[in-house]
Amino acid sequence: MSVPAQDSPLVPPPAGRVRALKRHLVESLRDLREAKHPERLIQKRTAQPEGFAADVVRAGCTQCQGHCCRGGGEHAYLDDRTMARVRRDNPDLDAAGVIALYKRSVASEGYENSCLFHGRTGCTLAKPLRAELCNTYYCNGLWDFLKMRPLPDNVEVVASKGGIERRAVVKAAAREEACRWE
Ligand code: SF4
Ligand code: SF4
Repeated sequence: MSVPAQDSPLVPPPAGRVRALKRHLVESLRDLREAKHPERLIQKRTAQPEGFAADVVRAGCTQCQGHCCRGGGEHAYLDDRTMARVRRDNPDLDAAGVIALYKRSVASEGYENSCLFHGRTGCTLAKPLRAELCNTYYCNGLWDFLKMRPLPDNVEVVASKGGIERRAVVKAAAREEACRWE
C-alpha cells in the first residue's frame, strides 16, 4: 500500500498563526450563533475502520506523518458544524471556554506551516474536537486498501515522497500495538 509522506521540520507555534486560529474560531462560533437551526448543523458520525483495517490505517498515517494535515493551516477545517457539536458536548463551556480548549490543544512543537495541531506524534486535537472531515479522511492509498475484499493478511505500507521512504509491515495475526498515530 502506498501513501504520501512529509518531513517538514518541527517548530513552536508562531504567535501570529495562533491568533489567526482564534479569529477563525470566533467567526465559526458567530456563524453558529447566527444559524436559524443550529442543531441541524451537527453532522452524523461516520463509522471508522476497526481491527486489522484500523491497524493498517494507523500504520499508513504513522509512516506518512500527516501529509494531508498540511492543508489544515490555521483553520484545521473547523467550522460552525464542528462548533455545534462541541457546544452540544460541552454545555458548561461558553464561547471563551471553547476557544481556550482549542488553544490549549495547539501542538507545542508542530510541523512547519502545517495545521497548528499537527504535532510530532500526530494530531494533538482530541477526536471529539476535530472537524468531521479530519475524522473521516482517507487518502487514495488508504481508500484502495479499505475497498479490498477480502482484506489481505499482511500489508506492507510504503510512505514516499521525493527522497523520503518509510516502510512498515502490518500482520493481521500480530497487530502492531506500538503505533502512536491516532
Ligand atoms: S490519510 Fe494518513 S496516509 Fe493519507 S495523507 Fe493523510 S496522514 Fe498520510
Ligand atoms: S486537526 Fe488534526 S487531523 Fe485535522 S488537519 Fe489538523 S492535525 Fe490533521
